[in-house]
Amino acid sequence: MSFLGIDKGGTRHTFALTTDKGEIVHRVQHETGRACGSCQMEDAQAEIEALHAVASELVQVAADRRAPVQSIGISFGGPVNAETGTTILSHHVSGWEGVPLRDLFEDWFGIRTRVDNDANVGCLGEWRFGAGRGCRDLLYVNIGTGIGGGIIANGQLVRGANNLAGEIGHTIIDSDSGVRPDGPPCTCGRRGCLESFASGPGIERRYHERFDQRLTCREIFINAMENDRDAAAIVEEAAHYLARGIGTAVSLLNPELVIVGGGVSEAGDSLFTPLYRLLQHYGFSQAGPVRVVPAQLGYDAGIIGAVALAMGTRQ
Ligand SMILES: [Zn+2]
Repeated sequence: MSFLGIDKGGTRHTFALTTDKGEIVHRVQHETGRACGSCQMEDAQAEIEALHAVASELVQVAADRRAPVQSIGISFGGPVNAETGTTILSHHVSGWEGVPLRDLFEDWFGIRTRVDNDANVGCLGEWRFGAGRGCRDLLYVNIGTGIGGGIIANGQLVRGANNLAGEIGHTIIDSDSGVRPDGPPCTCGRRGCLESFASGPGIERRYHERFDQRLTCREIFINAMENDRDAAAIVEEAAHYLARGIGTAVSLLNPELVIVGGGVSEAGDSLFTPLYRLLQHYGFSQAGPVRVVPAQLGYDAGIIGAVALAMGTRQ
């Protein structure tokens, strides 16, 4: 039997057929064309047609291999009602408000389909096939252009009342005035969220404010690793904010493992060494220090996570 995972990102759709062990046997990547400045931006209808066309091909490929698709998982880059499989909106493409994506797939193919947001999907993927294998309680934090997260508690994905559990990026960690949230503005419309300090753009902005020079996040991390004092100070500061946010979650959830993924986590030891040290101050655990490890799935997190979603959210 096969599973079909679909990672619907902002400008790229990736599809993979896998075995029941999550091994990819067939992969298709489809650029949506939005990255091309002169092209007309695609709307949801065009994307839905493209999803249908490629998924149809892969369902047929699986049937030809005598390993029919058992279930389909879709990672959606935006908020989703996971219970009904309906999208709420996309920040990148118009027209995704209220699209019953699960029902569309089930009508087209007659195959059970699950849809969830990319943070929950990344968490499920790392849990089932990545750094979190065998854990019953873990916290997943994805640090890239934003900061997302997911929680596995007692062997089950935690969704919360509105499928928004694990949104660690929007915990407010700065309140200079003491009476109301302060700090830099966040994408959510509030101020002082962890994401506004320690996401890729947040780190770049802090470097620019302090040293009046624009470097990419990657350049800042490289310079820090080469003992540039200014860059190292900014990375240490980012680790400090992350430790404050993650430490609060650790005190609340008592996970056995914290998995850190996303582009920023590729910084390696220059981020993980101070993060680990600082977490011992911010995270409460009488059981000893919590383990913090990098995510393992990297580039394939979305599709492997989608396959994990297809397989179910419990273990
Ligand atoms: Zn926020």
